[in-house]
Amino acid sequence: MLNFNGVCSEKDVMIIGVEKKDELKVFSEELTKINSEQANILRRAIKEKKQLTTQMNTQTNEVNELSRLNNELTSLQRELTKKNLELEKLYKQMQEIAITDRLTKIYNRWGFYELAEKEIERAKRYLYPVSIITFDLDYFKKVNDTYGHAIGDLVLEKITVRCKNKLRTFDIFGRMGGEEFAILMPEADGACALLVAERIRQAMNEPISFDENSLTITMSVGVASLNEEYFDLEKILWCADHALYEAKENGRNQVVMGCKVT
Ligand code: GH3
Ligand code: MG
Ligand code: MG
Repeated sequence: MLNFNGVCSEKDVMIIGVEKKDELKVFSEELTKINSEQANILRRAIKEKKQLTTQMNTQTNEVNELSRLNNELTSLQRELTKKNLELEKLYKQMQEIAITDRLTKIYNRWGFYELAEKEIERAKRYLYPVSIITFDLDYFKKVNDTYGHAIGDLVLEKITVRCKNKLRTFDIFGRMGGEEFAILMPEADGACALLVAERIRQAMNEPISFDENSLTITMSVGVASLNEEYFDLEKILWCADHALYEAKENGRNQVVMGCKVT
């Protein structure tokens, strides 16, 4: 007679048949032991799998977070580059504003000085001529007194445009203050500058129209050139201003050549 015993796992069923009852007991105990060991191994495997899954999930989350941060950084860097370009543009605009006259949009005194200094240094190094023309409007106070300050401003603007039309693009034209202007002409000797100064003076003879009125403005002009005696900006400007003063003294509306070297 056979005695039977058995165990079952998740999928399998094992049945043992033995002749002796003792053997059955030994087998049964052995089987139970194996079964419980298998269960332990299975439990451990499930636990490890769970841990691995959690770890992998954490890693995936970390990778996702890293990628998100990376994208954020890239867009921030792009934003920063854009802002830097805007800042650079603003800085250039500010620099331009600092050297531009608000009313006439030509260089102001500081702009004129900055560029004229450089031009004179270049002329000295490469030995080419440079001349300066300065002019001051005659009896301009009367324009303001008669027509008002706003018309005075308009006249200043119109005069600037007229004068600009007589100049080359690389001439440096600045408003030195009030109704006083200066022009630095690179590569122009005294004779050439005198000619240009005369042309500018004559261009003013054309009446300036506004509303239903018109007026004619005259100017007194001084000219000076770079030479061995007047070799820096201050000296040439002084020389041109001196000639301008002479033009005023001689009755205004004229051009005077200043400080010739004897
Ligand atoms: P002169 O022939 O001797 O140069 O006489 P002037 O009247 O032109 O000279 P003065 O220096 O006595 O007067 C200059 C005038 O220019 C006085 C001032 O009110 C005027 N002026 C200066 N800057 C401006 C400006 O930006 N706008 C206006 N409308 N007038 C100005
Ligand atoms: Mg004046
Ligand atoms: Mg003046």
